[in-house]
Order: sequence, then C-alpha cells, then structure tokens
Amino acid sequence: MSKIRNTPADDSSCGWFHLSPPRTARPPHFGVRSARWVVVGAGFTGLAAARQLALNFPDDEIVLIEAQEVGYGASGRNAGFAIDLPHDIGADDYIGDIKTAKISMELNLTGQSILKDLVEQHGIECQLRLCGKYQAAVEPRGIAVLDAYRLGLDKLGQEYEMIEEKDLPNHIGTPFYRKALFTPGTALIQPAALVKGLVNSLPSNVTLYENTPITEVQYGEKTVLTHEFGQIVADKVLLTNNAFAMSFGFLKGRMLPIFTYASLTRQLTEEEQARLGGRPYWGVIPADPFGTTLRRTTDNRLLVRNSFSFNADGRSNPKYLQRFIQRHKESFDRRFPMLPDVNFEYTWGGSLALSRNHMAHFGQLKDNVYGALCCNGLGITRGTVTGTLLADWLGGKKNHLIDFLLASPGPNRNPPEPILSAGVNMNLLWGQSRAGKES
Ligand SMILES: Cc1cc2nc3c(=O)[nH]c(=O)nc-3n(C[C@H](O)[C@H](O)[C@H](O)COP(=O)(O)OP(=O)(O)OC[C@H]3O[C@@H](n4cnc5c(N)ncnc54)[C@H](O)[C@@H]3O)c2cc1C
Repeated sequence: MSKIRNTPADDSSCGWFHLSPPRTARPPHFGVRSARWVVVGAGFTGLAAARQLALNFPDDEIVLIEAQEVGYGASGRNAGFAIDLPHDIGADDYIGDIKTAKISMELNLTGQSILKDLVEQHGIECQLRLCGKYQAAVEPRGIAVLDAYRLGLDKLGQEYEMIEEKDLPNHIGTPFYRKALFTPGTALIQPAALVKGLVNSLPSNVTLYENTPITEVQYGEKTVLTHEFGQIVADKVLLTNNAFAMSFGFLKGRMLPIFTYASLTRQLTEEEQARLGGRPYWGVIPADPFGTTLRRTTDNRLLVRNSFSFNADGRSNPKYLQRFIQRHKESFDRRFPMLPDVNFEYTWGGSLALSRNHMAHFGQLKDNVYGALCCNGLGITRGTVTGTLLADWLGGKKNHLIDFLLASPGPNRNPPEPILSAGVNMNLLWGQSRAGKES
C-alpha cells in the first residue's frame, strides 16, 4: 500500500465557483465497494472520460472520485478560454511542424465541439460565447511575438485580424495595448458553471463521489484505492488528476505543479460600462506568456490573471494569494485608469500541470492503470478531448487522433531537487520581470 502524500487543497475564494449556480455535492463514499472502472479526478478530463466510458460501456457502472467538490479544483478556477489554435512556444512562428500543428488544432476543436454540444444539449448556463480572443502586446518583444505568430497562422491557413493601437479601444475599451492579433475560433466560458453543468448531466451509469480524497493506493491485479471512510477496488483505473498523479507513483519528477492567480471585480455599473467602452464581452491573452490575461464577462465583471508560484505539493499556499492581490490591482489600474473605484470581489489561485517539453501523457501507466495527464495549461479543450479519447481507446476504438496521442513521448524528466525548485523559481521571477508592462 503506498501513501498518497499530497492531496488537493484549493483556496475557498474562487469567484467563478461562488457566482455559478449552487448545487448539492454528491455524498462521499463510505464502506467498501468494487467497480470495473474507476476514474480519479472530476475536472474536465475526468468528467469527459467518465461520460465516454459510460457511453462505450452502457452495462457497466463507472465510479468517478473527486477529492473536493466538482468545480472547486483547477477546472472550475481557470480563465475560461476554450482555445482552438495550437501555440508552440518552442517554435519561431509558434506553429512549428505543420502536420503536428494541424492535429493539435483538430484535437482542440474536437474538445471545443464536445463541450459546445453538451452545453446545448443540456441547456448548461455557463456564459459560453464563441467570440474569439485577442492576443495583445504593449512591449516590442510582445509585438514581435504577434508578428511571428501571424506568419505561423498564414502557414496553417487560419483567419486572423491584426488590430492597431488606435482601434483597440473600440474592441476592449482599454487604450493600454499597442497591437493585438484577433483570432475568431476561441470560445469563452464561466468554467465553474460549465463543470457543474457537466456533472449534473452525467449519464446514469456514472456514480460520482465528491469530497473523497484517495489517500492510499495498492496496485496488483486489481487496484485498491483507500480513503478516510473506506476502500474502492477497481478492475481498471483512469487517473485524470493532473499533477497529483505523481503522488500515485506516475510521471514522478516529470510534471510541475505551477500555480497561477486570478481576480474578478464586482459588476460594473451602466455608467462604468459606458466609461470603459468597447464590446460587451471579450478575452485577451498576453503576447508574453508571463503577461496578463484579461476578460470582460457577460455579466460585466473584469478578470485579471497573472503571476505564478511553484507549489511542489500541488496545494494552495495563502502567502502567494496575499502577495498577488496587490500585483493584480496594479495590472488593473494600468489598464483601466477610467475605472478607479472598481475593486476586486474575489482573488484565487489554481494549479497548472506543466512539463518542460510541453508534452502530455496519454495511455497506459501500468497494468490496468491508464492516464490522461499534464495538459500544460490548456485543459478545457485538451482535457475534454483526451479524456474522451482515452475512454474510446479503452473501448477498442482506433483513429488518427488516438494514434497521435499514444505516440507522444510524454513529459520529460526534471532535474533533481534542490536544483529543480531553485531553477523553476528563478525562471518564474525572471519571466515575470521580463514581461515588463505586460505583467
Ligand atoms: C488561474 C488559471 C487560469 C487558467 N486558464 C485556462 C484557460 O483559460 N484555458 C484553459 O484551457 N486552461 C486554463 N487553465 C488550466 C486548466 O484549468 C487546467 O488545464 C485544467 O483544469 C486541467 O483539467 P484536468 O481535469 O486535467 O485537471 P484538474 O482540473 O486539475 O482536475 C483534477 C481533479 O483531480 C482531483 N484529485 C487530485 N488528487 C486526487 C485524489 N488523491 N483523490 C481524488 N481526487 C483527486 C482534484 O481535486 C481535481 O479536481 C488555467 C488554470 C488556472 C489555475
């Protein structure tokens, strides 16, 4: 029996979670039970995997286990960009190998379309808008990124519009940016509302246990998952718990639990909306990866996301939250001087699972244990499609997307501690200071 040393502990201040329709969490598991399929982690990846297993194996019961409440983890606390386009930060034009980029885009679009269909089919109120995204720059380095990315998009045959400084306030209100690359295919969502809606519409042969952190695991012909109040014995286990899979003994020293932070304002008054100007809702991602993400939501709040910390245990740490509220406020004031009295109602952090080579794991981890892990900060679309395809692969289906994912080399190895922590922390500090005004 191996102890799971790190279990999730997110902060309680995520605006999306509190502003989404309340739901009653499903009861935790008590006692001992067995199941053919057990999925660990009910974020976008686990919800998609459980749903698809249920469809592929209609006579089986699928057990889905979540340590917290659904919507409380990273899937409910992200910035809500369901992104279509690939963005390979290792390539000069951010597109790189065209064949890989096309498959990557097909994966993202498949994930996006699965979500759009479910939202429509089940009437999920999650502010979904297919309104595209602006990638915006203020520093010369950022502008060079946009110019390079536009060449990559030409190569990929994708639509875009380059918007100059003087026209940008008509789009996003703020006159802060010098240039933006608009691409129309991204959908914006209220993430906690979406995951709560997804859970409420799971097929009837999925049994979800919330507030049930797995604390010990024993592998063998069957996998025994132990928690505070009992045990679940599984024929087959799917791990969809991102960086926490390292505590289950997999991809150890290959994933990086990096936290990033967001704040959401109160609703703007009509007068403030008029002062801001621009379109009624939009999303901006930074040209510099260490820069600031912004959103104006359909209910007229503004979101700011920036700042990173390396929380090696994958758990929230209040000291960072306190530190980054101030940075969010400074970023907000630089962009929205016309809204001096608008304060944040919520500030929270959440975990990304990153790998140094930007690769994910898909497929078998050991006998009867499988995983779709490490979606490198793009989990809304990527997690949805990889969870779905993992269940398809286990159901015996074959296609070129599954072949592509199975052929991935997966996350590469990190240097050992203490070099790792020192290196990651230095990189985060350096990246954030290099972002300059874009932070
Ligand atoms: C502030 C922020 C902004 C982001 N913005 C975006 C964005 O705009 N677009 C985008 O695509 N992505 C974004 N991301 C990343 C995105 O949230 C993740 O990629 C996504 O949540 C990954 O989904 P997942 O289902 O694989 O993992 P998670 O959402 O992390 O779900 C894994 C689940 O496993 C559970 N779990 C872990 N260990 C155990 C255990 N021992 N027992 C039981 N359950 C366990 C956790 O509680 C968790 O709910 C952002 C993230 C943050 C924090």
